[in-house]
Amino acid sequence: MKFTTKWMTEHFQSYQGAAGDHIDIEHVYTDTRKETSKALFVPIEGDSFDGHQFLQSAIENGAVAAFWNKEKPLPSFVPTDFPIFFVNDTLIALQQLAHLYRSLINPHVIGITGSNGKTTTKDFVASVLSKSYETHKTKGNFNNHIGLPLTILDMSPATQVLVLEMGMNHFGEIEQLSFIAEPDVAVITNIGESHIEYLGSREGIAQAKSEITAGLKQNGKVLVDGDEPLLAPLHTREGVVSCGFDSKNQYVLSNIDMNDRGSQFTINEAHAFEINLPGKHNVKNASFAIVIAQQLGMSQEQIQEGLRAMDLTGMRLERIEGKNGVTLINDAYNASPTSMMASIEVMKDLPHFSRKILVLGDILELGELSDSLHRSIAAVIAEPIDTVITIGNRASVIVEELEKEDSSLALYPFTEKEEAIPVLEQYLNEDTVILFKASRKLALETIVQSLT
Ligand code: ATP
Ligand code: MG
Repeated sequence: MKFTTKWMTEHFQSYQGAAGDHIDIEHVYTDTRKETSKALFVPIEGDSFDGHQFLQSAIENGAVAAFWNKEKPLPSFVPTDFPIFFVNDTLIALQQLAHLYRSLINPHVIGITGSNGKTTTKDFVASVLSKSYETHKTKGNFNNHIGLPLTILDMSPATQVLVLEMGMNHFGEIEQLSFIAEPDVAVITNIGESHIEYLGSREGIAQAKSEITAGLKQNGKVLVDGDEPLLAPLHTREGVVSCGFDSKNQYVLSNIDMNDRGSQFTINEAHAFEINLPGKHNVKNASFAIVIAQQLGMSQEQIQEGLRAMDLTGMRLERIEGKNGVTLINDAYNASPTSMMASIEVMKDLPHFSRKILVLGDILELGELSDSLHRSIAAVIAEPIDTVITIGNRASVIVEELEKEDSSLALYPFTEKEEAIPVLEQYLNEDTVILFKASRKLALETIVQSLT
């Protein structure tokens, strides 16, 4: 049992029914479609539906209590003894409940934000810390104002470490998540361009990510991408720890030895580690996990074991063997200009392939800067890349930029992703590696599937 309705009555004082009895709550949910016993139902008003319409199905499917907006009439089918907590706003009530439950269980909370690498870092941190602690983490990408409170409320009372991904589109959102989660450790993985249309500039993005310190516990630590100048204003703050490739950082990552299966590297020239993911950016993502684990006193062996056990949420630089032994790198989960460039760097660094092909699709949500940000990607495309296929009208300007140079690159600007298949089919052999990267909406994995 996580808590009881009786405990809730101490904090939510307007209620009816048998709420004052000790009724066990095991689950908190907003979606009534699946059968769930001992559940507290939280009706949320969305754009297309109002969760308040689904109370009946919630009760039929096992809800034992519910929040209810006090402005709305309570339907007559509700049994008089059924516990209802009346609140001004059910979403805020959900967030308050999550905050109270966080304080009740009081695990070591790690909050992770950044433009790219949140999920990867979250998975590294949880994989390492779970070697020594009972660890609960955000599932998939459940990182917003609803997903984060539900993640907190999903942890078992035995949880010692809670690892939370914090996402945002607008100013104020990370601040709110930070107040709910009250992290003991906050991580800012990097600053890119995602959601620049709402935040104006990279400076704006850095400022929005820095909001993660708002709810930080006293004496809490903030781990930042120390190679990002826009995060420099944070460095003067007490408890800020910088990780990065630059020798000025407190934790310096060097001696990086990379192949298509992973990387080896050292921290401060002393501790050597190994990860199963390619890409220099993943060395940095892993370093946050290492530093947090070291600060909790974990041994080098335990940390290394945890890094090795990391199992990546799919479609992030996922290496797949395709037809005729071709290597496909499925990074089609999503894309921003920074992450696309990071993935292209990974491709350039891979040894042992004589042909390297990029399949790059549109990056959405870039607003007015879309054209120039897409064009900027061309700057990192160079040897040993030999073929570039773009999918969609936004990404096609990458080819336009590359055409301006006198290069030997083979260039294919396509409108539809299916057009890429016949071109790729000519190169299916062991000496070829192909990267797939675009915004989620393009679902480039369908091409990956047709080549496997
Ligand atoms: P989302 O905003 O979609 O939740 P996220 O921040 O959780 O994204 P991940 O899912 O971990 O990020 O990684 C997404 C992509 O970003 C990866 O495919 C990878 O190419 C790139 N990436 C990961 N880490 C970094 C980093 N530290 N710097 C730049 N790019 C990165
Ligand atoms: Mg994510």
